[in-house]
Amino acid sequence: MEVVPGLHWVERIWDTKVYILVEGDRVVIVDAATPGRAGAVWAHLASLGYSPEAVDEIWLTHADIDHMGSVAALQSDSGAQVVAHRADVPLVEGLSDRQLGPLPLSGAYQRIFNWVVRRMFRPATVDRAVGDGEALGGWQVVHAPGHTPGSICFHHPSRGILLVGDALNHRRGRLGAPPPMFTSDMGQAHASIRRIAALDFEICCFGHGPPLSVNARERVRAFADSLI
Ligand SMILES: [Zn+2]
Repeated sequence: MEVVPGLHWVERIWDTKVYILVEGDRVVIVDAATPGRAGAVWAHLASLGYSPEAVDEIWLTHADIDHMGSVAALQSDSGAQVVAHRADVPLVEGLSDRQLGPLPLSGAYQRIFNWVVRRMFRPATVDRAVGDGEALGGWQVVHAPGHTPGSICFHHPSRGILLVGDALNHRRGRLGAPPPMFTSDMGQAHASIRRIAALDFEICCFGHGPPLSVNARERVRAFADSLI
């Protein structure tokens, strides 16, 4: 599905959203879904008339298994450069464990979670570690930590598009903050939502749930105002 010209949503991957940006000669994949999904991304790309070698960059909104699961396969098939926030680089490269939310028994739960991730996930090399405010063509990196330390959004101010990853989700018609169980710092996650709400945009695309293309900023602002 083409959300707006040049911004494609790989709808075959139903659980986590993967987007393909086509801007002139430049092709970018945003997020890498769960492990084993490279074929679905390539099938969608082929339907747009491109081969894997056409991909220039793979941008990761954050280093969770459902957003970076196929990154190594996508990288090796295409030769594309992987871009992630510097705080999440050790997770993408398999050098550190994911910090989950502070829960009862979180130490034991975290060990099991990370054991499963290590078995399922093939790490990748980050070619470009970015920080807040960096430009990626017409897009800007917006640091939105909380869910993970290196969660980022991609904002295209002149086109009014915002890709939020999991800093916000849109499930069953409602906006939501990232789930506390998988959010290393909930206070920071709420502060990031307020920061996102202050940006200028008309279209908002999520890591989970369909894009909002009508009154997106107003909806996000109202949600941010509702957070305590
Ligand atoms: Zn996710």
